[in-house]
Amino acid sequence: MSLLEIRDLHISYPNPKGEFFAVDGVDLSIEKGEFVGLAGESGCGKTTLALSIPRLLPSQSRIAAGSINFNGVDMTSLDEEGMCAFRWKEISVIFQGALNALNPVHTIGSQIMEPIRIHDATVSKKEAHERTLELLEAVGIPSRRSEDFPHQFSGGMRQRVMIAMALSCMPKLVIADEPITALDVMTQAQILDLLRSLCDRYSLSMLLISHDLSVLAQTCDRVAVMYAGKMVEQGPTSKVFGFEGARHPYTQRLLNAYPNIKHERKFIDGIPGYPPDLSQEQVGCRFSDRCDVALGKCTTEIPQLIDIGGGQRVACHLVNESGAGLQ
Ligand code: SF4
Repeated sequence: MSLLEIRDLHISYPNPKGEFFAVDGVDLSIEKGEFVGLAGESGCGKTTLALSIPRLLPSQSRIAAGSINFNGVDMTSLDEEGMCAFRWKEISVIFQGALNALNPVHTIGSQIMEPIRIHDATVSKKEAHERTLELLEAVGIPSRRSEDFPHQFSGGMRQRVMIAMALSCMPKLVIADEPITALDVMTQAQILDLLRSLCDRYSLSMLLISHDLSVLAQTCDRVAVMYAGKMVEQGPTSKVFGFEGARHPYTQRLLNAYPNIKHERKFIDGIPGYPPDLSQEQVGCRFSDRCDVALGKCTTEIPQLIDIGGGQRVACHLVNESGAGLQ
């Protein structure tokens, strides 16, 4: 059994005409100890999907259908009290802006200690303090700085504090939502290495959200690509971003929008147009307006996510179950 199994998940937000689906029939699974990357343009639903797991969505949103099974528990059936037992202890989140996520009037040490003591009443204050110092050292912050406040750290150091907080209860799953977006390139590489090594050391699973495919390519075992609320492709990173290649036209165009230092120099090939307006009714493939290989039925029939072998799944009318079609 997978650690996380999301099946046919629908999440809606209200709009003047009723509601629209930011996540529309999405499947995703994560195995124990696996690093899964979630990619896609801003507004494609990746953060909504990820934050639905610990149920940290805005109050006006609604899980309209589908299931989220975490370690054998149907998370959609839990009330708020039941969810509190999972948050941070079983599933933690590294948020995008550490300065906004950390409390400015508490020391970093007290903020790391808090979830440890809330979730395990048998841990004494002294033990929680010792574990906090160990965690700070593990993320590369000298333990003597545990009494400092968030504003006394650089952006990269604050992100390390967030990582220490996320690991404080040794959760089974860590969700990292664009954890390195605001950092410089050198610090990004250090944080990514740190995340990977800590998760490997403690056998944790991770869902890493990023619009930067190079970040996912160097860090994740498997990647999933979303477009306009739909999952369009999933598979091992070595297949989707590697030699055998992406099969969905959107993933291919995303990859073509990045420079390749090993190939000849050429102008970056962007994707013309914009994602569809999800407040309007969607018919057919949501990428059809921007797809340069669209077929007639692309505008009328919704392509289903099908297994094409080797762990790769694609939702495109041009790709059949044997994997034949678009190369
Ligand atoms: Fe393009 Fe059609 Fe495939 Fe959609 S289903 S990506 S429009 S070919």
